[in-house]
Amino acid sequence: MTGASPALGSQTERIARLTELCTPWVGGEAQREYDVGVDTCRVCGGDGRIANSFGGGSKTCPACHGNGRRVEEALIRDVTKTKPSHYGTPAKAAAPVKATWPTTHDGTTLANEVKASALSEDTKARLVREIIEYEGSHGKCTQTFSKKVRKQLR
Ligand SMILES: [Zn+2]
Repeated sequence: MTGASPALGSQTERIARLTELCTPWVGGEAQREYDVGVDTCRVCGGDGRIANSFGGGSKTCPACHGNGRRVEEALIRDVTKTKPSHYGTPAKAAAPVKATWPTTHDGTTLANEVKASALSEDTKARLVREIIEYEGSHGKCTQTFSKKVRKQLR
């Protein structure tokens, strides 16, 4: 049997050639190794974990946060040192946002009434602030408080 199908033969050949073509892609490890070599974390040596001093295993490397790559943390630290305001902004944003509008149903209704009233903007702002503060200390707007505020709307 010498007459193997030529079509099959060429197909096998094509696959072989494709595999050959693909090999350099699959074996692109030289590139990867180069990257790791450059960026390996100097604290943990690239394994992402550092030995626990108590001998209880290891913990995530604080320098690279476990990914084994050297982060430009030194640079980031320098920035925070030289620019404290840069670091202070997110910390401030994390603090509870000062309320500008009531959160309870009654408070919101009341504040809307204040807003819709004919009072000056200053008085409106003051009343809304009072509502927010009342809400904050009492947890809700009582009927008495609502009446008190509504009296001032007239
Ligand atoms: Zn590390």
